Amino acid sequence: MLLELDNVKTYYGNIRALKGISIEVNEGEIVCLIGGNGAGKSTTLMTISGILTPEEGRIIYQGQSIISVRPDNIVQMGICQVPEGRMIFPLLTVMENLDMGAYLRKDKDGIKEDFEKVFALFPVLRERSKQAGGTLSGGEQQMLAIGRALMAHPKLLLLDEPSLGLAPILVDTIFDIIRRINQQGTTILLVEQNAQLALQFSHRGYVIETGEIALADTSAALLKNEQVKKAYLGE
Ligand code: ATP
Repeated sequence: MLLELDNVKTYYGNIRALKGISIEVNEGEIVCLIGGNGAGKSTTLMTISGILTPEEGRIIYQGQSIISVRPDNIVQMGICQVPEGRMIFPLLTVMENLDMGAYLRKDKDGIKEDFEKVFALFPVLRERSKQAGGTLSGGEQQMLAIGRALMAHPKLLLLDEPSLGLAPILVDTIFDIIRRINQQGTTILLVEQNAQLALQFSHRGYVIETGEIALADTSAALLKNEQVKKAYLGE
């Protein structure tokens, strides 16, 4: 197992956002977390990234506890998050944004290789390499945010709502690329409000409701689950 969350509880002051979440991610998988607004999906990712510290529970990555490890050290250990809303640096160029993704690395050859990988996945980023990040379209900014995370050479990529605010045709493009990133060897934990899409593109899924795991199964089974169909697939 690559990552395990066991009974993780994360609070914002008195607000109990995660009430005991248990999740497993195996190497090579795409795992999705689906759920409505405010269910605790983003909180789960931020707890894994070390931005939030849980009150209780265990987070084990490659056999080691990562609770209380600093966020930059967690990145160095191979976990990298693409935050909701992209959060690229608007005034830096595309190239500079990508460079920021590699700021903790010293392996120059590896960085060069990963630049090429990112440009192969997102040719538009090469075309726009000198353009300021903030002047890119929404879809291009999402590509840049994913590309920047890949520049950290993650073993586990955490994606928060990659489809948010994108036109349907672009959403398909982004998800095809997410699948390719996975096929190239990166494990992915994905948060999505678009349950249909997330379940189509993942191996397994968890349904999260008000800070608790309500269902866990293969994505194929969740797509057929009556409860999921009613609550999340609009059927
Ligand atoms: P969305 O899809 O709307 O982003 P989510 O499933 O990602 O939803 P979270 O952002 O994890 O949900 O929020 C979980 C709960 O924690 C919500 O009730 C939310 O209001 C609360 N919450 C999130 N961030 C904070 C914060 N900074 N301070 C206080 N409460 C917060």
